[in-house]
Amino acid sequence: MLFLYRIAILAASLAVPRSRAAWRSAWISEIRHYRKMLRQRGLRRRYVRVRTWHHFVGAMLNAWCLFTGRPSVVWFHSAMRSPAFCLGAIALALALIAATSHGFAITRAMLFPPYPDAGRLIVISQGGILQNDRHEVPAALLNYWRSHDTTLAGIAGYHWNRHGTASVTQDFFTVLGTRPYCFLLRRVRQWQPLAGARELGVLGRLKPGVTPDDAQVELRSLAARYGGYADSEEIQVTPLVTRTRQPLLAYAGLCGTAVLALLLAAGSGMRTDRRRTGHIRRKYWAYFCAKAVFVPLVLALMIWEYTHATSFSPAGRALFVAKPLFIWLVILACAAIVWWSIWDQLARCRACLRTLQYPVRIGSMGAILFDHSGTELVCCQGHGSYYLPAVSSDYIQRGGWTTLDIEDAPSHPVPH
Ligand SMILES: [Zn+2]
Repeated sequence: MLFLYRIAILAASLAVPRSRAAWRSAWISEIRHYRKMLRQRGLRRRYVRVRTWHHFVGAMLNAWCLFTGRPSVVWFHSAMRSPAFCLGAIALALALIAATSHGFAITRAMLFPPYPDAGRLIVISQGGILQNDRHEVPAALLNYWRSHDTTLAGIAGYHWNRHGTASVTQDFFTVLGTRPYCFLLRRVRQWQPLAGARELGVLGRLKPGVTPDDAQVELRSLAARYGGYADSEEIQVTPLVTRTRQPLLAYAGLCGTAVLALLLAAGSGMRTDRRRTGHIRRKYWAYFCAKAVFVPLVLALMIWEYTHATSFSPAGRALFVAKPLFIWLVILACAAIVWWSIWDQLARCRACLRTLQYPVRIGSMGAILFDHSGTELVCCQGHGSYYLPAVSSDYIQRGGWTTLDIEDAPSHPVPH
């Protein structure tokens, strides 16, 4: 046991700013002597072990205190309080996502499908028992359609595997109009000719002026005529752009709600500001709006670029089995963003936007019926203080900001 403590103390001593060897030997001998002393008193082994552990925790806390007292750590702590740190962290997150996702490849592919005249492309699949179920189409039926249809300018089959290899029929690139790097939001590492697949995803290009519904009617009647194919009514035609934009719109809606809620909060806050002081604290609210827009944006980009929310099968069926649970998690994350943005904003100085410090407890919760109770925070540069009541319905002393410095006061006195 003592050996493990020695290793931990050796590791912790790296965080100690100076005279590490002395710090190390002092703590090791301290623990050793303490243990020896307890044993000599004839105490039980378990008790000695617990007390020695206690001493070891003391050594770790001491190392942590010395570490946090280092000038660089103190500087970092103070930098963390500034609004630039928060905005910098958001910018860094955006830059990291851009760098690791090939410049938002999936988001760009959803917004601007990288195919010429993409509005005419359709995905043809076969419905299943469930409403959103989609299945691949038999290769023989695809060949029958190809030789008989009149609404499509071209029709092709494709299939892909988990390793990013896509197998496609001969005319695939003619129908698609290009040889893309990413197909249906899926990165394709290698294209190869299709051989011997029985079921395929089907891509079609509508003739100009033909609607997807016209094509669906024709393909269904052809499938019925093809015979031996019972589910002709279940042939589904989905515009490719609609299918690929589904996750974009769904999660943009959720994250957009968070943005909207925060912007409404900002609007009401600005109105209150103007009523109370006669002017709007531009810097303060600009910072809030920046958070309100960019934090939900980071969440949405992370969902689109890194999760399975955007992936689907060749027939267009969502592959994400945990989708309902995931949507709940996204809603919770949006609520957490709204809560954090408002909380972070309240706990900042109205003049310099640094996080307020030195919390002081005032009053006691036990006497809340007759007196006020809460916490007061001040700006470390003395611009003002913020009082936060322990209960939001405190009628004796409402929460709020008190200006202490001329820098935060309105430039001209407000008539009462
Ligand atoms: Zn301040």
